[in-house]
Amino acid sequence: MKHPMELALVGLLALLAPVLPTVAEQAAAELILTGGRIRSTVGVAEAMAIDGRGVIMAVGSAEEVAALRRDGTRVVALSGRTVLPGLHDMHVHPLFAGLRRKECEIAQGSDVKTLQSRVADCVTRASPGQWITGGQWDASTMGRIPNRWMIDKVAPAHPVLLSDTSGHSALANSRALQIAGVTADTPDPEGGIIERDGDGRPTGVLRESAIDLVRGHVPMPDVNEVRAALKWAVDEMLAFGITSYTEASMGFAAGAASELAAYVELADSGLLKQRVRLCLNWVPGSQESEAVIASRNRFARDRISPDCIKIFLDGVPTDSHTAAMLEPYSDRMEGRDDHASRFGMLLVEQPVLDQALVRFDREGLAVKFHAAGDAAVRAGLQAISAARKANGLYGPRHDVGHSTFVAEGDLALARAVGATFEVSPYLWGPTPINADIAKAVGAERIRRVWPVRGMIDAGALVVPGSDWAVVPSVNPWPAIETLVTRERAGGSAEAFGKAEAITIAEAIDLFTVNSARHLGTSNRLGRIQQGMFADLIVVDRDPYEVPATSLHETKVMMTIVNGEVVFER
Ligand SMILES: [Zn+2]
Repeated sequence: MKHPMELALVGLLALLAPVLPTVAEQAAAELILTGGRIRSTVGVAEAMAIDGRGVIMAVGSAEEVAALRRDGTRVVALSGRTVLPGLHDMHVHPLFAGLRRKECEIAQGSDVKTLQSRVADCVTRASPGQWITGGQWDASTMGRIPNRWMIDKVAPAHPVLLSDTSGHSALANSRALQIAGVTADTPDPEGGIIERDGDGRPTGVLRESAIDLVRGHVPMPDVNEVRAALKWAVDEMLAFGITSYTEASMGFAAGAASELAAYVELADSGLLKQRVRLCLNWVPGSQESEAVIASRNRFARDRISPDCIKIFLDGVPTDSHTAAMLEPYSDRMEGRDDHASRFGMLLVEQPVLDQALVRFDREGLAVKFHAAGDAAVRAGLQAISAARKANGLYGPRHDVGHSTFVAEGDLALARAVGATFEVSPYLWGPTPINADIAKAVGAERIRRVWPVRGMIDAGALVVPGSDWAVVPSVNPWPAIETLVTRERAGGSAEAFGKAEAITIAEAIDLFTVNSARHLGTSNRLGRIQQGMFADLIVVDRDPYEVPATSLHETKVMMTIVNGEVVFER
């Protein structure tokens, strides 16, 4: 016999049962996309419905999904267009991109004459004594490393500071060096090089941390400029279908305080649509960087996760030879034969780095390295390995950013220690920086540049980053194409690391599900499936069906974040 309480409970359940809604009835569809090619985990579907919380309610046939339509449901006719998960950009500098628009723009690939006439133009538009900053020059197109005297000719009175295509070198004119107090007697700073001529005089070319000697004197943009720059940049990214991104180096463009303030203001006023991870710079021994890291959660919001630490391990493998390489560079630097000019610079010593990783890993902070050379990549992987050994496998995923060159044996190490490779496919399009890299490392190593095929085959997680505004556009479609073709966008006779090509499905995975896995959001994002959040893009072609050489022309027609339409062409 049943206990009276039990009977009462059964009665209560019976009473409740009829009013418990079925899953499909829980909410009306807020948004229905129908009549297209929805690339979902269950194949190509015709239609999908999204509820008011931004969750995908159903993926299926037009009839099935139409049953979820109510008064007020917005219905988008896809007209045969394709729906993909929203794209991730795992290494981008939007503030830098936004602020750079106001600077003196030197088109990539400019020769010395063009560079001079551009600077002359900028001088005419500047007020007396105003700083002229901008970029991007590159030594390989100019056929020589530029110097300050070239700039002095057209800008004798204005201080000028121009970055190269990598952002890791800059050219200052004489007035700028004078204001910064950089003379023949100034020693190279830790982690930086002041290039000098035969007489020991600074040539104006500054590498890595030496740039800061001059940059520290350039007035910072005010808060309004920073906010406007960020707003422009996030909208630009939405137009290219980027629904999640990682700000790769907070504070680098306008100082951490005003950059964090701009993010929070935009998020609090509902204008920041993407899901953003912020990487805060960490410099060994810097109290300033520790203070920013300690304050990080004051800036945490629904769409802002300040849970990443950026550590620079080296520079770039261009004519500057600042990327740390296991084998010496193939070419020689004019007038130099020191260790740094032959092997590059490892900016943090291994024991210091290991200790930092053990600490950040234990604190639940993901570390993103800047590591372009194979020696820097190895240092990063070893530090991650040290963290796993000390803390177990329970920490966040850390990533090695750029990973331009990776020693073959280190691919398996990444898998073993759960490290992610972040690669820069936007950089291997038709950008002059590649000619520079090829010249510096030689033909043998360039065959395995950005070994994405090898990374995937080794079972490592691979994610993409644009590094915008180091590259001129944040458009991911040329990058998706060149991951597949390893040629110039549109196809070309010349190729760049052809053996490392991957398939279109793998390329799209990099931008979607792999990135979500890296961020720990793959239960919510990165795939189109019932129950996932609706971060989606509608594109004008099905990238799985068209010739690879046309992928760069893909147009994003609509971008949706959390069920909200945030961009429409
Ligand atoms: Zn970067």
